[in-house]
Formats: sequence, structure tokens, C-alpha cells
Amino acid sequence: MKNTVKAGVAAVKVLENWGVKNIYGLPGGSINSLMDALLEEKENIHYVQVRHEEVGAMAASMHAKFTGHIGVAFGSAGPGGTHLLNGLYDAREDHVPVLTIIGQFGTSGMNMDTFQEMNEDPIYADVAVYHRVVMTAQSLPHVIDEAIRQAYSQRGVAVVQLPVNLGWEEIPSDSWFDASQVYAQPKLANPDAKQIEKAAEILENAERPLIFAGIGMRGAGDELITLSKKLKAPIMISALAIDIVDHDYEAFLGSAIRVSRKPANEAVANADAVLMLGTNQPFIDVTNMFEHVNHVIQVDIDPAKLGKRQKTELAILADAKKVVHSLNENINEKSETAWWRANVKNVANWKAYTDSLEQDTHSPLNMYQVYHAINKVTTPNALFSTDVGDVTMTSVRHLKMSKGQMWRTSGLFATMGVGLPGAITAKLDYPERQVWSLSGDGAFSMVMQDMATQVQEKLGILNVVFSNEQFGFIKDEQEATNKGYLGVEFTGIDFAKIAEAMGAKGYTARKVEELDHIFEQALDDIEKNIPVLIDAKITGESPIPAEALKLDLEHFSKEEINKFKTRFHAETLEPFSKYMKEEGLSEAGKATAQGGF
Ligand code: FAD
Repeated sequence: MKNTVKAGVAAVKVLENWGVKNIYGLPGGSINSLMDALLEEKENIHYVQVRHEEVGAMAASMHAKFTGHIGVAFGSAGPGGTHLLNGLYDAREDHVPVLTIIGQFGTSGMNMDTFQEMNEDPIYADVAVYHRVVMTAQSLPHVIDEAIRQAYSQRGVAVVQLPVNLGWEEIPSDSWFDASQVYAQPKLANPDAKQIEKAAEILENAERPLIFAGIGMRGAGDELITLSKKLKAPIMISALAIDIVDHDYEAFLGSAIRVSRKPANEAVANADAVLMLGTNQPFIDVTNMFEHVNHVIQVDIDPAKLGKRQKTELAILADAKKVVHSLNENINEKSETAWWRANVKNVANWKAYTDSLEQDTHSPLNMYQVYHAINKVTTPNALFSTDVGDVTMTSVRHLKMSKGQMWRTSGLFATMGVGLPGAITAKLDYPERQVWSLSGDGAFSMVMQDMATQVQEKLGILNVVFSNEQFGFIKDEQEATNKGYLGVEFTGIDFAKIAEAMGAKGYTARKVEELDHIFEQALDDIEKNIPVLIDAKITGESPIPAEALKLDLEHFSKEEINKFKTRFHAETLEPFSKYMKEEGLSEAGKATAQGGF
């Protein structure tokens, strides 16, 4: 019996033991010993050949976001590795575990400034929580295991640089082990009973309480709604947490600032107490979001986040879900308040507005109608991989999400191009579920070569491209801050033809009446494991700036309001102050302009 194993094969077995099913990357001379190991282990781990390393790294990062498990990507020395960086930074900024293996010239040529050889460690030092060069074949499986543990425990990127010859060297079969079977995540802390009492007191006494939940509340939407009803506190979320509460909940405000819904911006400007649950939303401080809030309670599992972005009256270092559970047990249901009624009316007014946009059949094709078509065919457990740009904003407004669906994007790093790679991993991870990639044409054209990967892997993904020949999100910023437009408009692309040329199905929608039929055909195609691209040629109109509303006669002239309403088809949209007045409440603050980020 063979009692040695190639070090590269041992390294791949470590990945398998940790439950890694897919590994993304491109071959190269400096990573070929890993390729050999993947070939030898092909029955146990699936190598996904992407067409650009960046897509591989973004897929790995999005894998971690969709599943909670480590994502793995690799690239060769020099450019192969540096191509990965965008995806690695995405993982770093959203704190998800990713392992990347970077090729290196063989040890005989290291430090000789030979082809593609350089000191790689400094390149990855910033992005990684762990970055090491493997020095001996014997230590290779150990270094991979260490990297995985570090990536999980520090919730970040681990980089292993592998001199190519070491992966081919034989090591004793029984000379390595890994921690995959014993690794345990720390138990999230229970809240302190006294702090729960204090939090309950603050919230029960507040006249205008607001719940502000982030991804720390994932999976506990029902309990959050229970608390909201008991406290008569509407729920605001971070944009990343848009999928945690059913869209239909009457007091669901959506997210605040720009990738936002109007009711959230208006509610937070008028709240007197905020309960933050597992969110580190990055605009709280820079926009002075809690300007009029008297009491902030913050719950987080990371001590470094407590009090980071706002003055905090009560900081609770505990699992947000356990805090909500304890509060629900300690709080008696309040009777309906004026604040509650005003918010519920405001949410209903906003919903009527977005419904009217989505259901309008007379206008030239626009993004709202496309979302309507998407909403009609999404399944209850659909997965959305959403790109960065206007599509992030319009998705958090117009997708009618409910419990069971998942929505992921590049949150803090906000890298364009993340939609398509995220959909690749989502479909590989959950082959039975409906998977959407939603992108603008700017972002999609950054990664469109990897439609070929979807075809090669036979992934029945619904790729929707909102084509309006512009970087709309930035164009609107330039409108607010610049002398004119530059670099925000571009020549259109026939994406359906591109998809067809790659072996996918391509459809072009130009009119609202074409949408339903196209989506029906697309559903048939994906059943046959054929990826579909729907190129929706939409108008270039801007979504309403929910952070810079001009609706209230107290603050704007009739002319300004009329112009604003006409531009955004917002004739029926009312300022929150109207509902507050109806309920006998006075306005504390208004949602202010937050442009320029
Ligand atoms: P994170 O930043 O990941 O923070 C989660 C927090 O929860 C962390 O502090 C963590 O320690 C803690 N935590 C995790 N688990 C638990 C637990 N079990 N219990 C307690 N605490 C826990 N977002 C907006 O809201 N508004 C915007 O206008 C906006 N604009 C954007 C524009 C674009 C183009 C893009 C791409 C994104 C935008 N975002 C916006 C997203 C934004 O950048 C952040 O990524 C997002 O707001 C952060 O969400 P979060 O706080 O839930 O997640």
C-alpha cells in the first residue's frame, strides 16, 4: 500500500474535510501542482473553471455570504493572484471567511526576480487576516488547515502562497491531520438580565420607538415582528438585511439613506429611541442619522462595534436574536400609538406608490415594470445575487421578498460585477432553488465573459440585465454635485446576442407587453439547465431619491414639489409630516440630503 501522498493532494483533502465542495480559479504554471491535486481528487471536490480570477474570488466570497461556509478561490503567481483582489476585499469588508491559494514560482527560483516571481506576501498583507508562504511540503496541509481556522475565527480572508514544486512532493500519508471535525464557533453571548430590563424600560417609555435591524438578525424575522408589534415600533433594516422581514409586514420601513425606502428615512428622522440589532450600517455617523434620537440601545456580538457610530445609552454585548427573544418575554404588548399609526399609513402610501410604478403598462419599458415581471415568477425560496449600482437601490425597493428567500450583494466594499459570480455559486450551492443575477449593464459588462462559465457548468440561472447605457447611480450623484456629466454614459451592448454566442439563451425586452412571455420562456430554459440572459432595454430615468425628498410644503415651494412629483411619477406620494399631523404628532426632523458618497 502506498504510504506517501503528494503534499498538494493532502492539502486538497484538508479542504474536503472542511466540507469545501467547489473551488474557483484558473490554472497557471505556478499553480499547476494544485491543478494536479484537484485532478486526482476530482470525484471529491469540484473545480469550477472561471474565465477571470476576479469572478472566482467574488464567487468564493458570495458563497460564504449565501451559505456561511468558507469559500475557496485560487490564482497563479503575479497577475492571477492580483486579479483575485477585488473579490478578496469584498470578503474582507463584509467579514466572511474566504481561503485563497496563490501560486508561486518553485523554491529554486524564489527571490530571484524570475518570471512572475515576486515577494507576494505584502500584496496580500492588507486584505488578509492570515497570509503565509508555505516553506516545506510537509507543512502544506497544516498551513491550509491553519488558514481555514483563521478565516472562520477572524471572519476574513486567509491567503496561502504555494511554491509550485512543494505541491508535487511526497509526504508520509499519516503525517498530517486537520481540525475540521473539532472546530467550533464560539457560542454567542446571552444578554444580561439587568440590561434587558433597562432596554425594556427605555423602549416602553419611548413615544417614538424604532427597531433598526441588520444582518445579525438573519433568520429571526418572525420574532422581530413580534417585538415590533409589542412595542408598536416600526422596523427599519440595513440594506443588507432587506430579506429578513416579509415585505408585506405593515410596519416594515425598509432601509435608510440612499439605497433605501422613503418611510425609513422619514421614521429615523423623527424617532426618539432606536434599538439597533446586529447592524454596523456605515452611514449612521457620516449622515448624523440619529440627530433627533434621544435614546440608542445597541446590540452587537463584537465589542469593537458598540458605540462606534453613535452616542449610545445602553450597549448590550450579546446575540441580537437572544436579546429580541428576551425582550419579547419581558414586554407586554402596548396598545396602538399615534406614532405607530402614522408609520403604518406612511408605509402604505409608499407601497401604493411603488405598486403604481410597477404596474404601469403605458410608459416605455422601465425598471419598475421589469421588477413586476420578476416578482410574478419568483419562487418562495428564490435566491437573488444583486449587483452594485442603481440595481442595489431598486432591488431593495421593488423585490417583494418574503421569508425563505435570500438576497446578497457586495455590501461595504460595493464592488460592481458581483451579481453574476454570486449567482454561479448560489446555483452550485442550491441547485434545486431558483437563482437570479440582477445587474445593470455597466456592472454586467465587467464580468460578462463568465456567462461562459454558467453555460459550461450547465447552471439554469436567470440573469437580468437592466440596460440603460449609463452608470445611473453615479450619474445621479454627478447631477447633484458636478458641473456636468462625464464618464457616466456609454454605448449599449446587445447582451442577448452575447449570451447566445456563449451557448446561453438570450432575450431582449423592449416593451412591457413582452415581459411575461419572455419570463415564461426563461423559466422553461432554466428547467433544462440552460442559463438565460434577459436584456431589458429600459429608460434612463432615475429612481426617486428617498434621501432627498421634496414633498413637504413646510420645506419646499409648490413649484419645487410639483417638479419633483412629476419627475418621479409621485403625484400620490405624501410627506410623513402629513400622517404625523393627522395623528397629532409634530415633526422632529426631516430626511435630509445625503448625496456625495
Ligand atoms: P454589517 O456591516 O456586516 O454589520 C453587521 C453587524 O452585526 C456587525 O457589527 C456584527 O458584529 C453584528 N452581528 C453579526 N451577527 C450578530 C448577532 N448574531 N448578534 C448581534 N450582532 C451581530 N445600506 C444602507 O442601509 N443604506 C444605504 O443607503 C446603503 N447604500 C449602499 C449602496 C450600495 C451601492 C451598496 C452596494 C450598498 C449599500 N448599503 C447601504 C449597504 C452598506 O454599505 C452596508 O453593507 C450595510 O448597511 C451593512 O449592513 P449590516 O449593518 O446589516 O451588516
